[in-house]
Amino acid sequence: MPFSHRAARTAPRGPVPAILLSNTFDSFGLAEPILRAVTELGYREPTPIQAQAIPVVLQGRDVMGAAQTGTGKTAGFALPILQRLMPHANTSASPARHPVRALILAPTRELADQIHENVRQYARYTGLRSAVVFGGVDIKPQIAALRQGCEVLIATPGRLLDHMGQKTVSLAQADMLVLDEADRMLDMGFLPDIQRILHALPEQRQNLMFSATFSSDIRRLASSFLNDPQVIEVARRNAAAENVEQRIYRVADLESKRAAVAQLVRERELAQVIVFTNTKIGAGRLARQLERDGLNAAAIHGDKSQQERLATLDSFKKGEIVVLVATDVAARGLDIAELPAVINYDLPYNAEDYVHRIGRTGRAGASGLALSLMTGEDERHHADIEKLLGRKLDVERLEVAGSARGRERERDRDRRESGTERRARPARSGAHSRAREAAHPAPAGYSNDPFFFEPYVPAASPGEVETPVLEAERASARRPRRPVAALLGGGKKR
Ligand code: AMP
Repeated sequence: MPFSHRAARTAPRGPVPAILLSNTFDSFGLAEPILRAVTELGYREPTPIQAQAIPVVLQGRDVMGAAQTGTGKTAGFALPILQRLMPHANTSASPARHPVRALILAPTRELADQIHENVRQYARYTGLRSAVVFGGVDIKPQIAALRQGCEVLIATPGRLLDHMGQKTVSLAQADMLVLDEADRMLDMGFLPDIQRILHALPEQRQNLMFSATFSSDIRRLASSFLNDPQVIEVARRNAAAENVEQRIYRVADLESKRAAVAQLVRERELAQVIVFTNTKIGAGRLARQLERDGLNAAAIHGDKSQQERLATLDSFKKGEIVVLVATDVAARGLDIAELPAVINYDLPYNAEDYVHRIGRTGRAGASGLALSLMTGEDERHHADIEKLLGRKLDVERLEVAGSARGRERERDRDRRESGTERRARPARSGAHSRAREAAHPAPAGYSNDPFFFEPYVPAASPGEVETPVLEAERASARRPRRPVAALLGGGKKR
């Protein structure tokens, strides 16, 4: 099954319109030797991260990518790096003609090896050389390989430092840097090593950082060495976390959906939950309804001011708000580790959004709960989600308490409350909504909007969230962890 373009999404900073995303490798302008290798590998079309990252890397821009292994991210950075190195390709036997120009750092030997294998294949017709160095094996063959010269070096930090110490490698011309699986590198205590390596690189360089998660430490690391990065986020195909319990409930109609949310929060005793809706107006209405039902609820969506959104998020963090109703765009970028549950009030239009939504819970080994509501109208989206996940998601019936008469009263109240909004836009045509979008463009300056970069911190334990997985990894960390800012020459105090 080919990778789906709908999985691609760019964070609010300078989004790449989907229509402009390339669905052929030819259109990137890659050199023939690179294209030949890609074709031979059987890659027919770029994966979502490749479609987004390749043009950006080719432009020489820094990238902060939220992508896991399995998304095709290696080619996403390796192909444009090779393309940028093409002018340096030469057949000279002299090592001096093959200095390290691109350095790719990876946390583990397995990943480094895997990246090298890919780079070797992509570069096979280019004349560009690659090498890999990692610990736990004899250093001598690596020294011999480095002596031959290589334009692309893949390394784990510790072993690279050994080589630097022995002066068996020079990074003086390495003006492209990739930090892969940066979150794992920090968890494994590699930060001091990374800092030392950064110092050995030319100051003027292109930096690409990839990470599956974006903790505050990762953001701090990113802001310390990335220069105005393009943020790219993609869902891994079929990435629905196994530790998330998924339940899909069919309810009779829209009104039942609203009552169902309150019912599920109470029956399941959900301490806190994010409820996703497909529309801004739906988010606002649902939050009002839940308030009336006695739950502390609030909505965040693009029509709210930054101040309102910050205040809402703050209340949610403090535990004052139990139900945060959010649209996909408003929730994007929120690091919400340890959230116990999410509810899909509607099934999302794009199946990949389902994966993103349910990925908000059950992070890093914690168990999570994803409850989805559907009516007949959601039927098609349900089928799309099943197709994407490659598995069936059984639909259960949910009996929703509350009389039809009561719901009619709620409907009347809703009409009164949103009366002005309705009068302002009686038509529902596509042209009308486009005009409305134009009148209310997405807030500018998302990149400086702390709302989109504030991590979620459970009310019970302010400060950093420790998951069982991270704790276990840290227990085996090679070096003690120290604050990122301190290690990177001061920066903001934690
Ligand atoms: P990665 O996430 O980079 O580890 O890649 C995951 C797998 O997808 C690897 O086996 C790649 O060879 C493969 N792959 C990468 N890009 C493509 C593509 N455009 N089409 C098909 N397979 C790909």
